[in-house]
Amino acid sequence: MLPDSSDDYVTLRKQMLADFAQSVSELFGREGGTIFFLVGEKSGRRSAQKRLNESIGSNEKALHRLEYLKHEQHWGDIEFSGLDLERKTGKISLRNCFDVSFKSSIGECFFMRGFLTGFLSELFQENITTSNSYDKPCDGTCTQLFWASDVKREA
Ligand SMILES: [Zn+2]
Repeated sequence: MLPDSSDDYVTLRKQMLADFAQSVSELFGREGGTIFFLVGEKSGRRSAQKRLNESIGSNEKALHRLEYLKHEQHWGDIEFSGLDLERKTGKISLRNCFDVSFKSSIGECFFMRGFLTGFLSELFQENITTSNSYDKPCDGTCTQLFWASDVKREA
């Protein structure tokens, strides 16, 4: 597999992302988080299309490939567990999530949750929901459940 062209990348400081988040927050308040969710979702769908184009073999392999890639790319440590690929449910554990870079006044890992939602939805070709476990502020470590829209959530 060929890597993406270097033209596809730009290096940004995390502080710039934080400034970006702060500006969105100033304009839109807490609703600004939805913007990050939607940006993440688009990015996640593209990422899943790439994994699928690599003809990776199975959805489970694609998920583990994502864990590896995002660790390498310093996005954080993603771990999928309790997978039921038939029912399209499972658990996501996030550690060292780079979404913390966005935490100015917005807080919460909207981008990563959007990314994972988009990735899983594209992979399973179905609308996947991820849980919003924001009962406590996310400091870059959190756990989310995911499920297909036609499956009742089992917490
Ligand atoms: Zn989080």
